[in-house]
Amino acid sequence: MSRPNNFVILGGGISGLSAAWYLSRHVPSTTKITILEGSNRFGGWIKSKRVGEHKILFEQGPRTLRPNGIGGPVINKLNLTSSLHAVTKNDDASKNRYIYYPDRLVKLPGSSLLSSLKSVMLNKFLLKTASSILLEPFVKSSKNYEDESIHEFISRRFDKSVSDILISALIHGIYAGDVKKLSVKSIFTRLYDLEQRHGSVIKGLLMGNKEAFLCQQDKDLLKIVNDENKELLAIMKDVSLYSFKDGIEQLPSAIVNDLKNRENVQLKTDNRVIKLEFGKKIKISTNDGVYEADHIISTIPSRELSHILPDKGTIPHLDYNPSVSVATINIAYNHPKILPVKGFGYLIPQSTPNNPYHILGVVFDSDAMPLQDEPPRTYTKLTVMIGGHYFNSISGKVDFPNKDILLQQSMEILEKHLGIYSTPLYYLVDIHKNCIPQYYVGHYSRLEELHYAIKKYYPNQLSVTGASYWGVSINDCVLNSAKLVLNLLSNSSNVVTGLERIDTKFRL
Ligand SMILES: Cc1cc2nc3c(=O)[nH]c(=O)nc-3n(C[C@H](O)[C@H](O)[C@H](O)COP(=O)(O)OP(=O)(O)OC[C@H]3O[C@@H](n4cnc5c(N)ncnc54)[C@H](O)[C@@H]3O)c2cc1C
Repeated sequence: MSRPNNFVILGGGISGLSAAWYLSRHVPSTTKITILEGSNRFGGWIKSKRVGEHKILFEQGPRTLRPNGIGGPVINKLNLTSSLHAVTKNDDASKNRYIYYPDRLVKLPGSSLLSSLKSVMLNKFLLKTASSILLEPFVKSSKNYEDESIHEFISRRFDKSVSDILISALIHGIYAGDVKKLSVKSIFTRLYDLEQRHGSVIKGLLMGNKEAFLCQQDKDLLKIVNDENKELLAIMKDVSLYSFKDGIEQLPSAIVNDLKNRENVQLKTDNRVIKLEFGKKIKISTNDGVYEADHIISTIPSRELSHILPDKGTIPHLDYNPSVSVATINIAYNHPKILPVKGFGYLIPQSTPNNPYHILGVVFDSDAMPLQDEPPRTYTKLTVMIGGHYFNSISGKVDFPNKDILLQQSMEILEKHLGIYSTPLYYLVDIHKNCIPQYYVGHYSRLEELHYAIKKYYPNQLSVTGASYWGVSINDCVLNSAKLVLNLLSNSSNVVTGLERIDTKFRL
């Protein structure tokens, strides 16, 4: 199979940009790469905005990255290290994380043994969690089952209250989703594997080493990343989270600037893809024109892809999972110290009573990233996140609260939970419709069928990556785009769909 000479990438979020960036570094300059982005900007859900005369930075989408992905080395190559803003493991934002349950902030254990013991002793549910961790190795394992919800898994191996309180809060923070519907195999893959291999999560954690769970390709990638980025990795050793001086959007912007300097790369905004036709070449129609490709990398939401493919029905499951919508309410106060506690913020479990406005959590942005505004440490900034699975998930059918109401509800909650009565200096309210895909139980098997269908109907012409498939974090998106490009450019004769890891030969 000869290598494609003309790649078209659908979608210019972080997945599409990363795919283009990796391709542009590895293909000859005669290979054309085009990104077709439907909106008027690149970056997708990553949106950092400075507002008002004080140019306060608000993050409307993601706000931090974890150093354990391959994002770090990417920023090294894009010369972003000088803009790095890091939270170290000793900072309050790393040590202090809270949940709101049942009617107050509860600090989660973790920062020091003494304070952890104190929290555990003072809270019945943390005590229950601790005892269920001690007892977990003695719980009979349930091997070789296909999948179950996170809630079923955690209740079975630990205790129902652990899922209802701690895990549902965590899931609100990452997926804005419902623990009772999300797949343990796709979201907590490691926990699932630990039970399968060791019969117990805790036993497995104590016995196993992390790398044993990586497939060979991940190990190879990790080695390259470690060898090439020793200096940066040394800086990142004590870092628990990071962003950049002007916010997370500096990452996609730096990729766009890099791509603009490459002659073989075309960057097109305002080009929503409306139809794909497969022949010897692929014809791609957008609202603005027609393009041709040898190979398409789709990074748009899978549901969106299902609408533009020909022969609806041949490619299954693309529109199975819904995505949830999240409202973000960014608020800044002209005072550095109005919070009663320091930390990253708090999440609200599904079982917290009296959560009528469906708040998912509140991030203390000015504690997490104190140096992004001028003068530093002058303002208190918070982001209230509302909705997720509580909003009806597929947009169009939902009456979202209007923005004034969302602001009003947020202020009421901040007053009740944190005792904040001040008037905001600035605020920004937005509703991100269908922004986080939900991997419902059975996701893994559906991807397997999807893989074989793409292989059968569009071999060597279509591959997929992006948040709809293998993880929603920015690190997941960058890593999966990198892996897809490596597979596409490898000399193997395998058909590459982007869903290879379910093919047994790619697993350990
Ligand atoms: C509120 C919020 C907070 C988050 N917080 C974090 C965090 O702190 N850390 C973290 O790591 N992750 C976080 N995430 C998750 C992360 O931001 C996203 O999962 C990730 O940015 C998705 O990137 P993507 O490129 O796969 O998809 P997208 O960003 O959705 O990009 C897809 C692109 O495709 C375009 N498109 C769609 N249809 C078409 C079409 N037909 N034709 C052409 N273009 C099309 C869209 O306009 C979009 O630009 C958060 C997400 C949200 C919404």
